[in-house]
Amino acid sequence: MTIEDFQKFINEQDALFRTTKQLGYSERERILARTVKLSEELGELSDEVLAALGDQRTGKMDERSVEGLADEFADVVIVTFLLAKSMDVDVMQALGRKVEKIKAKHNKQL
Ligand SMILES: [Mg+2]
Repeated sequence: MTIEDFQKFINEQDALFRTTKQLGYSERERILARTVKLSEELGELSDEVLAALGDQRTGKMDERSVEGLADEFADVVIVTFLLAKSMDVDVMQALGRKVEKIKAKHNKQL
């Protein structure tokens, strides 16, 4: 999947949520809902990380699937992009800027 395909998917999901699940939400409510959802997804990713390290109780370990960890990384990225869209933040542009800052900082330290 290219970043363009992914951004198209995010735009489609955003439009879908605006006409279904989040119909009638104000923009403020949508932003808060997506922030809470991101927290939920981070929790699910944390569960998968603990399971991958064998640090979960037996019942949870039994429910674990091979794709679970990767799926939760994907969920965090998807919700992050949806939240950023709600707040008019261009994540790819921000990543480009941030990477350059990090490179400059690390190059100074070398
Ligand atoms: Mg999830």
